[in-house]
Amino acid sequence: MKILAIGRNYIDHAKELNNPVPKKPVIFSKPETSLLKNNNPFYYPDFTKDLHYEAEIVVKINKLGKNISEKFANRYYNEIGIGIDFTARDLQSELKQKGLPWDLAKGFDNSAPISNFINISDIKDISKLSFSLDINNKTVQEGNTKDMIFSIDKIIAFVSQYFTLKIGDLIFTGTPKGVGPINIGDKLIAKIEGKEMLNFEIK
Ligand code: MG
Repeated sequence: MKILAIGRNYIDHAKELNNPVPKKPVIFSKPETSLLKNNNPFYYPDFTKDLHYEAEIVVKINKLGKNISEKFANRYYNEIGIGIDFTARDLQSELKQKGLPWDLAKGFDNSAPISNFINISDIKDISKLSFSLDINNKTVQEGNTKDMIFSIDKIIAFVSQYFTLKIGDLIFTGTPKGVGPINIGDKLIAKIEGKEMLNFEIK
């Protein structure tokens, strides 16, 4: 399986990192070994001193597809979850400056903690879904899918022009504003519509 992710999909987040608001989706990928499941702890890696959290809604593909039109994109997923796109911001800044790929900054082992998935039929409206991240019981990020620059269906239509989507593939759909550093000892809780989905510790 593969994990695709979109960068700068919320205007407020693009602005907080002084990035332009993109006209086309900014796509990158994370390897399967980046997944961290079952609320297992995350061990702070020693190659960064500025590791940032980015809470994101994650879509799970449930049907094989290529060149999917936006109109039919909703037939290709029926579960969502929430995940963290951990980013070694210091490493990413260095790579960005040199025009190099972000893989080392975003694709390292366990850089993608994810929750269990819930069926979309259990959700009122996926285009107006609220989600949040608490660190040590303080809410640091609050987002709503209505503020996405590129909707889930638009992302699927876009990426499937380039990549065949397969059952089980995951798409990280971008983070709202409020990203920041994590520290050893922090407790992270991510919620969808106020419901706790992900709960793990930084060690
Ligand atoms: Mg991200």
